[in-house]
Amino acid sequence: MSVQYQIIGGGLIGLATAYALLESGAESVRIIEAREGVALETSFANAGMLHVSLAEPWNRPGIGGELLGSLFHKNTSLKLRATGLVGLMGWGRQFLKHSTPDAYWQATQLNTQLAIYALQKNMQWRENLSIDDGYEGDGLLKIYRSDESFARAQESVSRLREFGANIEICNAKETVLKEAALKPISESIAGALYYPDDYKADAYVFCKALEAEILSQKNEILYNRRVENFVFSGDRVCGVETHAGILRADTTIIAAGAYSYKLLAKLGLPLPIRPVKGYSLSFSTDELARKHTAVVPHIPVVDDSLHAAITPLPNCIRVAGIAELAGFNPKMGPTRLAPLLGMLDNVYPDLAKKLTSAPMKAWHGFRPVSADGRPFIGESKIQGLAINTGHAHMGWTFSAGAGALLADVLLGKKPMIDQVGFAASRVW
Ligand SMILES: Cc1cc2nc3c(=O)[nH]c(=O)nc-3n(C[C@H](O)[C@H](O)[C@H](O)COP(=O)(O)OP(=O)(O)OC[C@H]3O[C@@H](n4cnc5c(N)ncnc54)[C@H](O)[C@@H]3O)c2cc1C
Repeated sequence: MSVQYQIIGGGLIGLATAYALLESGAESVRIIEAREGVALETSFANAGMLHVSLAEPWNRPGIGGELLGSLFHKNTSLKLRATGLVGLMGWGRQFLKHSTPDAYWQATQLNTQLAIYALQKNMQWRENLSIDDGYEGDGLLKIYRSDESFARAQESVSRLREFGANIEICNAKETVLKEAALKPISESIAGALYYPDDYKADAYVFCKALEAEILSQKNEILYNRRVENFVFSGDRVCGVETHAGILRADTTIIAAGAYSYKLLAKLGLPLPIRPVKGYSLSFSTDELARKHTAVVPHIPVVDDSLHAAITPLPNCIRVAGIAELAGFNPKMGPTRLAPLLGMLDNVYPDLAKKLTSAPMKAWHGFRPVSADGRPFIGESKIQGLAINTGHAHMGWTFSAGAGALLADVLLGKKPMIDQVGFAASRVW
């Protein structure tokens, strides 16, 4: 059976695209997912933050030296591994090319606008579908430990505000008033930026709710089906090949996260996206809640220099971060997790002692990181094929907005924000 739209990938982006299409009046959608369920790859246990506060791309000016240095240091949160070098050649060159101040600020502006739009859309969907994903809207704190780093962060504030971000500058005392659990380290905090509009919620629970809604509208989600190749009718993609046969659609959308570039390579379309691995540790808080032995944090705290965050979610505290450039390497050893444990100890020393004896789950995911720091949302240069990928460290934040933006483009509606900066025509 042919459907109007079929989406490769059932992570945050594929599910959000499917739901946005249905919301905008699409007749039928199909999701094709390689795994046994939705959101089991990078959308499974991320840091749970929906944030305007981290809209800056990772290729900030000066990143080249930092990456090179990381080759020779163990336990850094940003880590280029020698084993990953070959696979990163072309992408790496472009990543560095886009680390000029102009490219950095252009990406930051576009990402901030998409994040603001996406947070509203995400909230609308949560309310419309009564999604109980542990949402709490108390904002987010980015803390700084040295006067220099805090001063540098403040230099960017007026520009970020011009882009639409809502930011409060806090001294150490004000920081502790926002998050009382930071009191034990107040002496070591130079200050913080507080983003009152950011919020937190569990991405996996949200994905499961979208899955249920998509299925309840009599659409198809196929599990354990890996797309191997594409089927053409003339110059137009009219379907995909899987081991279980051909699946046809008027339009096929690639939303396969970090794997998207591999699918596009089959079509001779090189997409500058590579996996940047991250990890999370989820510590159960059931015991803590029962014993009331510690001040439990309530808002996400980001330590930007460590590329890491600590987010209190329902029943767990999640420490997430690390940016490792090593291809799709599935290894999960103690050395790799050490920076996260270090961060927990650094930010919440009292709590860390109690949490590290609590049940803990370790996880890793591959962020789809584009070379210019912005996602790709729009039609491809092949008819019948669109893409929605490359959301890097912002995929949870962007998901509803990116889905809605692509739905508007495909259904010929005027997008609510400018889509041109996310179009794939910038590379093809
Ligand atoms: C440690 C960490 C913390 C993070 N924290 C945050 C955060 O706090 N806030 C935020 O906004 N973002 C965060 N992110 C980023 C966010 O999680 C990702 O950007 C997002 O999950 C990407 O979603 P996706 O749907 O593009 O990819 P995925 O979730 O990886 O989904 C892609 C899907 O495609 C499927 N697939 C792949 N190839 C095929 C194929 N050939 N055929 C069929 N199916 C296929 C896969 O099985 C997968 O299910 C974090 C990421 C990490 C790693």
